[in-house]
Amino acid sequence: EAIENEILTDTQGVSWDDIAGLQQAKKAVQMAVIYPLLKPELFQGIRAPPKGLLLFGPPGTGKTLIGRCIASQAGATFRQHLGWIGEGEKMVRALFAVARVRQPTVIFIDEIDSLLTQRTDGEQEATRRIKTEFLVQLDGCGSSNEDRIILLGATNRPHELDEAARRRFPKRLYVPLPDRDGRRTIVRNLMRKQTHDLTDQQLEQICDQTDGFSGADMDSLCREAAYGPIRSIADIATASVEDVRPISHADFAYALRQVRPSVSAKDLEIH
Ligand code: ATP
Repeated sequence: EAIENEILTDTQGVSWDDIAGLQQAKKAVQMAVIYPLLKPELFQGIRAPPKGLLLFGPPGTGKTLIGRCIASQAGATFRQHLGWIGEGEKMVRALFAVARVRQPTVIFIDEIDSLLTQRTDGEQEATRRIKTEFLVQLDGCGSSNEDRIILLGATNRPHELDEAARRRFPKRLYVPLPDRDGRRTIVRNLMRKQTHDLTDQQLEQICDQTDGFSGADMDSLCREAAYGPIRSIADIATASVEDVRPISHADFAYALRQVRPSVSAKDLEIH
């Protein structure tokens, strides 16, 4: 039971509304994963769901958020990226055992490249055994049509997956950097709970200046800006909540000098 609890990570409180933009990706994921699990009778024949879906794209774009959201909707077995080596093959077997018992389930493995990376040399025996066990268990799931288990993987290094791993993901979905609308939504959502005096026009300006920022970068930007009002307090130790002025456009201007886009052009080549 301890293992079961460890496997079933708490995913409460993640909803589709928490994920800004990515309308296409969200729809595709629902069609490929959620609906087939909830309504298998509608997804027969060539509509049968893929056994594996890989979310790939630059870091910090919401792949983990999507995975967690699916996990909370589909009675899923959710694993953050794992210390696989320490946990060993036993953990892999336990993971699949829990997934079978609780069907329909989604097994979500974040940073799946760390588990299924193609390593020609220096691959440790322990790593190789875990990888083999994982693939064996996975193929076991496909043996019967009754198995309503879908593997969901996320990676920002898709070409590091080897052929054997790639075959397990017949469907792949690119999760892109947020567009202007996505960036605006992220800022709006984060600022909603804060006192600020940003005008709509200033918000648009921030969106203009953040082309190439990932969702995670937008998050960092807002957090950095939110420190501005605190920084301008003379004596923080004796300050009270009333002494904190609203977050301003100038705070964002300052934050924009601190926070740079973390995704390089090279990261984007994987598209
Ligand atoms: P990595 O590949 O580095 O694991 P990822 O694509 O899985 O990255 P997440 O972990 O989902 O990225 O996102 C990191 C953080 O960035 C989130 O916790 C959230 O704060 C913010 N974020 C990223 N994308 C979005 C988005 N589309 N909507 C809202 N927040 C986002």
